[in-house]
Amino acid sequence: MIDLKTLTIEKAHQALKSGEYSCRDLAQAYLDVIKEKNQDINAYIEIFDDALLQADKAQEKFTNGTATLLTGIPFAMKDNILIEGKKASNGSKYLEKYTAVYDSTVTKILKKEGAVFIGRTNMDDAAMGSSTQTSYYGPTKNPCDTERVPGGSSGGSAAAVAADMALVALGSETCGSIREPAAFCGLVGLKPTYGAVSRHGLIAMGNSLDQIAPITKNVRDAELIFETIAQYDPADSTSRPQEKRVIKKGNAKRIGIPWHLFEEGVDPFVLDNFKQSVEKLKSAGYDIVDIGLPFSKYSLAVYYIIMPAEVSTNLSRFDGIRYGYSDQNATNLLEVYKRSRGIGFGKEVRRRVLLGTYILSHGYYDAYYNKAIQVREKITQELTKAFETVDLIATPTAPTPAFKLGEKMNDPVAMYLMDIFSAPANLSGVPSIAVPSGTTATGLPLSIQFMAPHFAEATLFEIGKKFETI
Ligand code: GLN
Repeated sequence: MIDLKTLTIEKAHQALKSGEYSCRDLAQAYLDVIKEKNQDINAYIEIFDDALLQADKAQEKFTNGTATLLTGIPFAMKDNILIEGKKASNGSKYLEKYTAVYDSTVTKILKKEGAVFIGRTNMDDAAMGSSTQTSYYGPTKNPCDTERVPGGSSGGSAAAVAADMALVALGSETCGSIREPAAFCGLVGLKPTYGAVSRHGLIAMGNSLDQIAPITKNVRDAELIFETIAQYDPADSTSRPQEKRVIKKGNAKRIGIPWHLFEEGVDPFVLDNFKQSVEKLKSAGYDIVDIGLPFSKYSLAVYYIIMPAEVSTNLSRFDGIRYGYSDQNATNLLEVYKRSRGIGFGKEVRRRVLLGTYILSHGYYDAYYNKAIQVREKITQELTKAFETVDLIATPTAPTPAFKLGEKMNDPVAMYLMDIFSAPANLSGVPSIAVPSGTTATGLPLSIQFMAPHFAEATLFEIGKKFETI
C-alpha cells in the first residue's frame, strides 16, 4: 500500500528508483482512488485511458538510467492545457469535442521528463470564476468539505491533489486561479513571474495575465516543477530569454504588509489567522514593516476592465466556423455566429465578452481600457518601488475560506471580490506563492501569500519552506 497522503515528488522518486514500487504501481494507486472518489468530487472531466501505458514508458527511463525527478510522477492537467491527441475543452461546451492537435510547451517538457498525465481536470467555463461552479461539466466539490467549493478556476486540479487523485497538478492563473483553489484545499499554489513559463498551448483567457503553474502539497514540489517548466520558449513571444531572467537568490529578511488593504471585506477568521502568521514570522526573525500600496486598492477594478477586454478579443476566434461548437439550426452566417456563441458559452463567459466588447468600443476605450492600462502601470511601479525596501510582501491569499456550493452564483460582484489579493501580482507580473497557514475552528484551510520581485521565485520558495516549519 503506497501512503499517498504523505507522498512527495522526492519520496516517490526514491521509491521508484529503489524499485520499492513501479511507475505502473504508482499510477494504479491514484487510479484506484479516482475510481472511488471522482464521481463524487468531480475533479476530473476525463481519465486518460493510456495512463498506465505512459507509466510503463516512464519505467523504461528508470531501467535505462535516464530517469529524472519527474519521471513517473502522476500529474493532473487542467482542461485548458493542450496535450496532443487528447481533448481540451476549457471547461466549456464550446470546445467539448475539441481534440488538441499539438502539445503545449509545458506538456512537451513534462513528456520529455517522463511525467504521467492521469487526466484532465475540471475548471470554470473558459477559466472564468473563483469556484469551479461555472464549468459545463458541473461543479467540483472541495475534498476538505464536500459541501463547499474547491475555489477556481483550477478547482479540479486542486481537488485532485487534495483528494490524492494525483500527486501534483498543473493549473493556470489569470488572476488567482491557482492560488485561491490551493488556499481553499490546503495546498501550495504558485503564480510565476509573467514570462517565466511558456503560454504556448494554453487556451488563452487574458494573454497579458495568464501563466501555467503547479498546485502541490508542499513548497518543494512546486519548486521542482517550476524549475523544470520555467524555460525560454521562442513559440511564446512573451517568454523571457534565459539570460534576461535576473534570478534573485533568497535570503529575505524584510516583509512588507499592506495592512490598509484589509480594511474591508476580509473574513475575521482570515484576518486573525493572518495576524498569527505574521507573529510567527516575527518570531522566526523576519522584520515586519507596514507598507502603503495606494494604487493596489484599485487592482480589482483594473483587472475587471483589462481581463474582459482581452477575453472579448481572444474569444472572437470561437465563431462557430473555425473550430468548436457550431449550431446546426442556424439558417444564415450571422445566426451561426450568434447561436454557436450564445449556446456554446455559458452565462459568465457571455457577460465578460459583452463587458469587454463595450470597454473596447470606439466611444469608451479611452475612458475605460486606456485608463485601466495607466493604473496598471502605476500598480507595477508601486510594487517595484516597495521591493526596494522590502524583500517580500505578504497578504492573506483569499478574503474568505472556501464558501458553500451554490453561494455567490447569482452575485457576480461578490464572486469577483474573491480576487482582491490575487490581482496585484497578475497585473504587475510579479510572482506569488500561496502557502497553507492553518485552519478555521471548523477545519477549513486558510492560506498566506507572499509576493516577490520579478523572477525572484527562489525567494518565494525559501520563505514558503521556512513558513511550513514555523
Ligand atoms: N477569479 C478569476 C476570474 O474570474 C480567475 C481567472 C483565472 O485566474 N483564470 O477572472
